[in-house]
Amino acid sequence: MHLAVLTIFPNMFDLFWDHGIVRRAIAAGLVQPETLDIRSFTDDRHQVTDDRPYGGGCGMVMKPEPLASAIAAARERIQGAVTVLMSPQGVKLSQQTAEGLARHRGLIFICGRYEGVDARVIQRHVDCELSIGDYVLSGGELAAMVAMDAVIRLLPGVLGGAQSAACDSFSDGLLEHGHYTRPREFEGRKVPEVLLSGDHQAIARWRQRMSLGETLLRRPELLERRALDERERQILQEWSQALERILRHQSAHRPDPLSGRQ
Ligand code: SAM
Repeated sequence: MHLAVLTIFPNMFDLFWDHGIVRRAIAAGLVQPETLDIRSFTDDRHQVTDDRPYGGGCGMVMKPEPLASAIAAARERIQGAVTVLMSPQGVKLSQQTAEGLARHRGLIFICGRYEGVDARVIQRHVDCELSIGDYVLSGGELAAMVAMDAVIRLLPGVLGGAQSAACDSFSDGLLEHGHYTRPREFEGRKVPEVLLSGDHQAIARWRQRMSLGETLLRRPELLERRALDERERQILQEWSQALERILRHQSAHRPDPLSGRQ
């Protein structure tokens, strides 16, 4: 996949391209990255990329001409690429959005700065706007890195089989189970016995149980909109029965206000 980033701070991406899975994907030729400095598409001596907003008000706005030229240059290099503007007003990034983006042959990410980019650039040259959450960053660079990282790990061949993204949280609509490594006991807490058993079926069952339990506790809305299969239904019933037992036990031991005992 070809990835181009348009930014006024190209150096911010040097470390990003050079570490971990992203670096491996590039080394394996699965990702061809490119960082374009928007300043190099200006035609004034001071390489100005911002200007005052029409109508007044606070902050500056990214000038349309250098940005449009940078987008055109990136599009020429990456035929058929989708142009994505990082913006707090965009569609919220999710695993599903990342999967959608990962299907394209090329992506061009635009990193805004100041108060954002001139609206006409968005209308004329942007295919979609992407947000990484309901908060405002000072620039789109970190947001673009987040989006690219989520996309890159989904590309075929980037993660080894053992590390498959298909096991990750959200990929099948659930949160993932917890993970354990050595030592067997840490600060008085033991690794669940089943994980040491070598019984792969029992381990898979335990993981599914934990995955559903985590999802139920932390993100119940994911379960509400899920078409549960028979096994998942059964596991959730077991969790619900366990919860009922705890609550029954609690009410049986409720402090008696008349006895004065707690
Ligand atoms: N004035 C803009 C607004 O209120 O919508 C915010 C501009 S922000 C200070 C500057 C740039 O940071 C944006 O153009 C965008 O590229 C990036 N940015 C900020 N928050 C973001 C978010 N949550 N997701 C993606 N990009 C974001």
